[in-house]
Amino acid sequence: MAAGLLVVLSGPSGVGKGTVCRRLLQSRPSLQLSLSLTTRLPRPGEKTGREYEFTTRSRFQKLISQDAFLEWAVVYGQYYGTLKERVEKSLGEGTDLLLEIDIQGALQVRRRLGEAVLIFLAPPSMEVLHRRIAGRGTEDAALLRRRLEAAQQELATYHLYDYLVINNRVEDAATSLDAIIEAEKCKVSRGARPPDLEVKQR
Ligand code: 5GP
Repeated sequence: MAAGLLVVLSGPSGVGKGTVCRRLLQSRPSLQLSLSLTTRLPRPGEKTGREYEFTTRSRFQKLISQDAFLEWAVVYGQYYGTLKERVEKSLGEGTDLLLEIDIQGALQVRRRLGEAVLIFLAPPSMEVLHRRIAGRGTEDAALLRRRLEAAQQELATYHLYDYLVINNRVEDAATSLDAIIEAEKCKVSRGARPPDLEVKQR
C-alpha cells in the first residue's frame, strides 16, 4: 500500500485558507484535515476537536519537551503544533493528510519529511486581504495591523513552497489544489504503479 500524501497549505491570516480547505475536502473526501493543537482561546463558534484541539500552555510545553510534535510554532504569541504520532498513523494507513499551518511549521515539515507537498495560498491583492480580515470583525485595530504586517512578510516567502495558488475565487483555488494533489498522486517517483499487467493464462 502506498503511503498517504502529506499536503501542507500556508498563507497569510485572512487569505481564506479555512474556506478553501472546506471546499477542497468536499470534493476530495479521502483527504483528511489534520487537527492542530493550540493554546489560543476558541473564537465564538469554535469547538475543541473540530477547528483545533484547544489546550493549555503547560501541556503544550510538556509535549514539546517530549518531542511529540512534527512541527510547532508560536504565532501571534500563541503556540500551534501538529502531533507527530497522528501524522505518522494517517500516512502509514495510506490516508492523504492536509496540514493548514504557518510558514515556520511548513519549513519544519519540509526538513523532516522532504516528500511533503508545500502549497502557498495568496490573496489577489493586499487590499482584498485587508478587507477580508477587517470584515471578519474578530480582531481589534492593533491586532489587525499586526496581521497585515505579518502577511506582507509571509507573502515574501512564497518561493520556498512547491506551488503558489491565488485565492481569487474559492472554487477556483480549491480546484487548483485538487489538481495539484491529483498530479502528485500520479507521480511515478512517488510510487504510482500500473496494475498487474501480466496476462492471466487460462
Ligand atoms: P488562527 O488562530 O487564525 O486559526 O491561526 C493563526 C495561524 O496559525 C494561521 O496562519 C494558521 O495557519 C497557523 N496554524 C494553525 N495550526 C497550526 C499548526 O499546527 N502549526 C503551525 N505551525 N501553524 C498553525
